[in-house]
Amino acid sequence: MLLDGLLISKKRNEELKTKIKNENLKLKTSIILVGEDPASLVYVKGKIKASKEVGIETELINLSNNIKESELELLIKRLNNDSSVNGILLQLPLPKGFNEKKMINLIDPNKDIDGFTTINQGKLFQKLDCINAATPQGIINLIDEYKIDVSGMNVVVIGRSQIVGLPIAKLLLDRNASVTICHSKTKDIKLYTKEADLVVVAVGIAKLLKEDMVKDGVIVIDVGINRIDGKLIGDVDFENVSKKASYITPVPRGVGPMTINALLENVYKISKMERD
Ligand code: NAD
Repeated sequence: MLLDGLLISKKRNEELKTKIKNENLKLKTSIILVGEDPASLVYVKGKIKASKEVGIETELINLSNNIKESELELLIKRLNNDSSVNGILLQLPLPKGFNEKKMINLIDPNKDIDGFTTINQGKLFQKLDCINAATPQGIINLIDEYKIDVSGMNVVVIGRSQIVGLPIAKLLLDRNASVTICHSKTKDIKLYTKEADLVVVAVGIAKLLKEDMVKDGVIVIDVGINRIDGKLIGDVDFENVSKKASYITPVPRGVGPMTINALLENVYKISKMERD
């Protein structure tokens, strides 16, 4: 069965739109884009469009590649102090020469809708209420919508990045899954995936997860986005793995739209945290 991220995200976006309207909320996100990386531009446009659809205002601040780190620093501080701005999103990657971690951590954690600051990530690992990164939160929302209970499951997460692999492993662990993390130095990934009830793949290698690496009935979440010959392909060999899977996300229309939805829900959540 398909885990239809597009369908579920549309439903959740509608629900969010209704809440924003009914509660008469004025929400605004400032998106900072440094330079003109074409992929980043596509992502930013997608976020702006989706925000508009649910009634969240966006302001795009596109800075030139040549700005100094100190100028970006001043901008982030100004937005932190601007009470009309609920959420700040610093589009990554920053051009070479910028200290990304330092810039991210200038963002007020109470406006950090990406959940990338040390405070929000630290809170996640201390099980405190926080803003989670949108991709792992989107995956959790998706499995919740399909009423998949991961408690007691053998889960394998392939990838250990700060924004996907590590937080999704922690969120699944919090739901009582037994989680194994595989990565670029894992000797034999198949050894682990063969035993897995649920596999999350977040690597960035097209068709990394193959049919012979999974058992019948496995649940597969494909986070990967790979552009091959102008087509978007995930990290899972969908055509063959889907024959064995009980549930599987497609690429596109799987984790991608759930990520955007979670980002929008983060803006709403932040506005509630401010008022509570
Ligand atoms: P990353 O490059 O930060 O991390 C990749 C991880 O894969 C690393 O932890 C590395 O150890 C592991 N890895 C590398 N080669 C491997 C191998 N041969 N076998 C096993 N593990 C290996 O990437 P990321 O930011 O976590 O993103 C991963 C993928 O997910 C990318 O394709 C990215 O475009 C995509 N992504 C999609 C969304 C979405 O909304 N759908 C969001 C974020 C990232």
